[in-house]
Amino acid sequence: MKIPDRRHYSQEDQYSWLSILLDSYAICDEGIEQEIAREEEERGAKVACAKGCFACCLHYDVPVSAPEFMGLAWYASEMLEPDVRERLRQRFANQALTIGCPFLLDGACSVYPLRPLACREFVIYKTPCLEDEDPYFTRPEDMHPANPGRKLRTALRFLDSPVYGLATEENKLAAIKNGVMHKNIPGMHEIEWGLIIENMSSVLA
Ligand code: SF4
Ligand code: SF4
Repeated sequence: MKIPDRRHYSQEDQYSWLSILLDSYAICDEGIEQEIAREEEERGAKVACAKGCFACCLHYDVPVSAPEFMGLAWYASEMLEPDVRERLRQRFANQALTIGCPFLLDGACSVYPLRPLACREFVIYKTPCLEDEDPYFTRPEDMHPANPGRKLRTALRFLDSPVYGLATEENKLAAIKNGVMHKNIPGMHEIEWGLIIENMSSVLA
């Protein structure tokens, strides 16, 4: 499978799962970018999502699979500037009382390059969501549609992650059919990020 150009990190030499995760994110991003160009033309409307827009990060408990979890944990513990990590630590310490995604800081995603697939796929057309709006209910027609081809391409690389132990494409296709990427995975708020960031060396090993 051809992997789109993407940023490479030196830590990929150490963590084999990281390259797989980043490849699958690049496949997803490239597909969505192409789909958006088509959708904007057909709809005669632009994507509303933009920097500084974050109502979606307040409302949804984004599902986090094991590879996505590893990516978030790695980025938060090894890539963020110390002051940002410290602010996240404080946010995690009050996670039960915190409104919105634990990684939302000052109205922006602090882990943007490693944000999960659900965040990458959530795109709205025409107008930005209102603060208390859930477009699933208010205007599903303005939501970017699922694209089975892009999802399949993303999943086939994603499932190379060692956590799944799937050796062949046949195994991966069977696992996709069984919904392995969506079964029994926690939401962002169910994970004790504070504990994890404090014990990163054992999490990433
Ligand atoms: S999904 Fe809605 S709230 Fe989120 S970035 Fe797009 S327009 Fe803004
Ligand atoms: S990971 Fe980032 S983009 Fe996704 S919900 Fe959290 S803050 Fe928003």
